[in-house]
Formats: sequence, structure tokens, C-alpha cells
Amino acid sequence: MAMNRIIIIGGGIGGAATALALSRASFEPVVYERTKELREVGAGIALWANATHILNQLGLLKAAKQVGYLTTNYQFNSQRGKELVNVAINEFELPVIGIHRAELHQLLWRNVPSERFILGETFERFEHKNNQVHAYFASGLGVEGKALIGADGLRSRVRAAILGDESPTYRNFKTWRGLTDYIPSGYRPGYIQEFLGGGKGFGFMMLGEGKMYWYAAATAIEAQPDAAIGRKKELEMMYKDWFLSIPELITATDEANILTMDLYDRPPTQSWSQQNITLLGDAAHPMLPTMGQGACTALEDAYVVAKCLKEQADPIAAFQQYESLRFPRTKSIVEQSLQSSKMGKLSNPFAVGLRNTFMKVMGSAISSSFKSLHAYRA
Ligand SMILES: Cc1cc2nc3c(=O)[nH]c(=O)nc-3n(C[C@H](O)[C@H](O)[C@H](O)COP(=O)(O)OP(=O)(O)OC[C@H]3O[C@@H](n4cnc5c(N)ncnc54)[C@H](O)[C@@H]3O)c2cc1C
Repeated sequence: MAMNRIIIIGGGIGGAATALALSRASFEPVVYERTKELREVGAGIALWANATHILNQLGLLKAAKQVGYLTTNYQFNSQRGKELVNVAINEFELPVIGIHRAELHQLLWRNVPSERFILGETFERFEHKNNQVHAYFASGLGVEGKALIGADGLRSRVRAAILGDESPTYRNFKTWRGLTDYIPSGYRPGYIQEFLGGGKGFGFMMLGEGKMYWYAAATAIEAQPDAAIGRKKELEMMYKDWFLSIPELITATDEANILTMDLYDRPPTQSWSQQNITLLGDAAHPMLPTMGQGACTALEDAYVVAKCLKEQADPIAAFQQYESLRFPRTKSIVEQSLQSSKMGKLSNPFAVGLRNTFMKVMGSAISSSFKSLHAYRA
């Protein structure tokens, strides 16, 4: 088996999707995941048409529609709820689905035999030996495969081993994410509703099974701790005079269901393959979540890397082809995501007013830039 084994480090959305795409293409992927169970955080994701295309190719679109929620519009508003831009996102042959991350993750790994996931193994290092790659884990385990794919996220150990590069770049934003069953009074069915104010923003959308997912972002120093009053109270204060649905949603959410995270990316300057080793998802091209494309591009990567391995007998050639297909697309999305975060950083009221006017005027340009991102079919 070692001759055909493809080692995948990390069983997040990227690693699980890669295992599925490779099993469908008759390879023998084995995922090594450091946690003791396969799990995802309690938050949502919008799967744009470029990502539902991948689910369709993997035969999972119908199941995703069943557990997710069909989304039709992406609306940007001022903090008080005045519409600035309304983008129809349902004009493709494929739907846009709001889905719980854990539901998406399960759809991917449940369709792969469970023996292909080895849990509780933390990757440490690798060696090349006779065209094979040997991976070594903290437990002392050593395994051999014909190729290795690092899907081990933002602080990828595989990336550090092949590129020796530095920590990701903090982009001066902190986020909060929440889940609740409460449907706020101002919710418009089918809409992702986003609200932009001075140095902060808020958005919410429906996932499947009546769950509302909301997210907030604000400028902050790195590793800023929760306020002494707790994160829920802090958010209630931050958004108290915003569009009514926002304080309603925060109040309706259990504090235990509010996650916070600092936001990082990496300037997309370095290539990410070395011989028969490559990277995928956040390990390869971490991006800010402003375009909502991190997990969507990880799905694209998974599908393309499996296709290249199928087309090229030699994994070195396959990974070169994979990277040449994926580098330009992901580079541009990393850059666009950073660019749009700059619009959210404005804090003085005059600049915010200008930004809001600009967004109104640029409505059709914003809409067409979304469309070209979502129109891509890997
Ligand atoms: C606030 C926020 C909102 C977001 N919203 C969206 C959205 O709406 N749409 C969207 O598409 N994307 C969104 N994203 C981005 C998305 O979450 C990520 O791009 C995606 O989860 C990346 O998946 P991954 O599998 O590459 O990495 P990860 O999900 O980080 O998975 C990496 C896995 O590798 C494992 N691992 C790490 N190190 C090791 C090791 N040494 N050995 C073994 N295993 C290891 C980890 O335990 C983990 O399971 C958002 C991100 C944030 C922070």
C-alpha cells in the first residue's frame, strides 16, 4: 500500500475534501489529524457557486442542499440598516448554500472509509527516501507514501518544513462568530445581510435547520483579551445603536456559542510545493474572511490536486501542474480579501460616509467582481 499511499496532514475541511476527491479518483489517501476526533467549530459558511460546483463534482450537492439553506442575495447596509448595495448571487446554474461548518465537514468525511482517518497524530517532520516521502509524528509513528499534502491550516507545520517561512501576518482585526435559533425581526429570507460602520462590521445569514449564524469584526490589537464584562456584554455595548436585528441576535446567543479569533493572512509570494510534497487550503494561501472564500478555495484545491494526480503519473509533475493552476487564482483572492478589509478599517465618520457613498455608486462594480469570483469552475 505504501507505494500508492498519499499522506494528508490535517483533517479539516481541506484535508477531508482532499481525502474524498482522491478516494473518488481511486487513490489511497490517509489523513493524519492531530485532534482525537474529527470536528469543526460552531459557525457557518457560505458556499458560493464556485464551491457548490465542487460539491456537485463530488456527488454531494443534493445532500448539501438538504442540510443547508439556499441563499439568494448579498446585501450591504449602513450600520443603521440603510441599503448600500444588493447583489443577486443566485444567477448561476449552481446554488449558493449557507451551511453549518460541521455539516459540511461531515458530508466530506462520512463519504470516505473511516480507516482512512488516523486521529490523534501530530505531524512533526518528513524525509525524502527513494522517491517516497516518510512522515514522522510526535507519537513516534513513521509512515511512508508516494506523496504528502499539507492541509494543516494557518500555522502549517508542513509549510514550515518545506518553506521555512515566518508566522502569518496579523491584519489588525478581531472577529466574533455566533449561532442561535433566534430569527431577528429584520431578517430578509434568503439574504446575507452585512452592516458597515466605523472600524467595525456585522453580518448574519441563515444556515440549514433554522439556525442563524452571525459574525462581527472590529479593529483590535493582536491577542486582545475579552473585556472584563465578558464577550457577550462587550458586543452588546459595541453594537447597541446599530440596526435592531444586531443587538437582538447578540442578546439571543448563549455566551458559550460566541467564538472569537484574530485574523491573519500571508502575502501570496511564495510557491508551495517541494518535489512530491505540496500544500492546500489555509496552509497554502491563508486569507482574510472578507470575501468568504477560504473554505471554498480549499474545496477547489482538493478537487484540482486529485485531478492533477490522476492526469500525471509522477506526483512531482502533478504538484507542479496543481500549483500552476491554483497559484494565480488564490493569489488574487488573498489580495482582494485584504483590499476589502481596508474598507472596514475606516473609523472617522466622514470617511465612513464617503465609503458608504462610494459603495452605493460602485454597486454594479462590486456585484460584477463577486460574479467573476463565483463564476469560476475548477
Ligand atoms: C472568522 C472566520 C470566518 C470565515 N468564514 C468563511 C466563509 O464564510 N467561507 C469560507 O469559505 N471560508 C471562511 N473562513 C475560512 C475558512 O475557515 C478556512 O479557510 C478553512 O477552514 C481552511 O480549512 P483547512 O482545512 O485548510 O484548515 P483548517 O480548518 O485549519 O484545518 C487544519 C487541520 O489540520 C490539523 N492540524 C494542524 N496541525 C497539524 C499537525 N501538525 N499534525 C496533524 N494535524 C494537524 C488541525 O487540527 C485541523 O483539523 C473563515 C475563517 C474565519 C477565521
